[in-house]
Amino acid sequence: MLLELRNLVDLRAFIHTVKKSGKTIGFVPTMGFLHAGHMSLVRMSKSKADVTIASIYVNPSQFNENTDFDSYPRDEKSDLLLLQQNFCDAVFIPKIDEMETLSKVHVDLGGLESVMEGKFRPGHFKGVIEVVYRLFSVVTPNYAYLGEKDFQQIMVIQKMVNHLKLCVQIVPAPIVRESNGLAMSSRNSKLSSIGREKASVVFEVLRNYLSEDVRFLEQKLLSSGFELEYLEEHEIDGCKRLFIAGFLEGVRLIDNIQMS
Ligand code: AMP
Repeated sequence: MLLELRNLVDLRAFIHTVKKSGKTIGFVPTMGFLHAGHMSLVRMSKSKADVTIASIYVNPSQFNENTDFDSYPRDEKSDLLLLQQNFCDAVFIPKIDEMETLSKVHVDLGGLESVMEGKFRPGHFKGVIEVVYRLFSVVTPNYAYLGEKDFQQIMVIQKMVNHLKLCVQIVPAPIVRESNGLAMSSRNSKLSSIGREKASVVFEVLRNYLSEDVRFLEQKLLSSGFELEYLEEHEIDGCKRLFIAGFLEGVRLIDNIQMS
């Protein structure tokens, strides 16, 4: 049975009971409109932690435009069903007003906030840090499960955890894809069925980056209607990773792949 926690009092009472019984907590923070990618995180958490808590919160401070926040897809009923079917123990669905009462934190991200996602979405990671810190401070998880689709976000959150010496282990999870290679995302629901097919070009470009000419790949993206924001290679902890972001049919898509 999925326990629905809709305010801080109920959440804190539940956390207190869990901690008193000496159980560990696995946490899966989300913005809802859940899909198989989110469920892979729930399953990973269930295989390690005693109790799995997901959260559904569309955080206004990480959106650059109000219209993007307003039009972000939401379907709480189907989210609850999916969580229940995947045996998630509890879900925290806070109200914006109550989240705003929690304290904020500032973390020096050492430049991470101004490249790739940070460059094209100014202030985005400040909003991410704000909400994740707030969620961590009330959920007090032992483990937090985060998808590699938002690879830079994992780096930012890990930086925050190190900086504040928080007692939570960040566990990265592999990207779950549609059969055509498109990385699953709540935003994909805003694509037309043709758009969803065309969007497979994003992963195709990542896979063929080493064997094809970059100009040719950029042309391929363009001819599929993909407006490229960035296609960048970065070395992270000794491994090369390729990152891509852009718009298709006005929907922002991101993806990445490990190259070595
Ligand atoms: P979101 O609801 O988009 O904020 O995502 C919540 C969490 O699910 C984040 O840690 C994401 O990286 C992760 N996630 C989203 N899509 C996928 C996917 N296709 N595969 C794996 N994890 C994902």
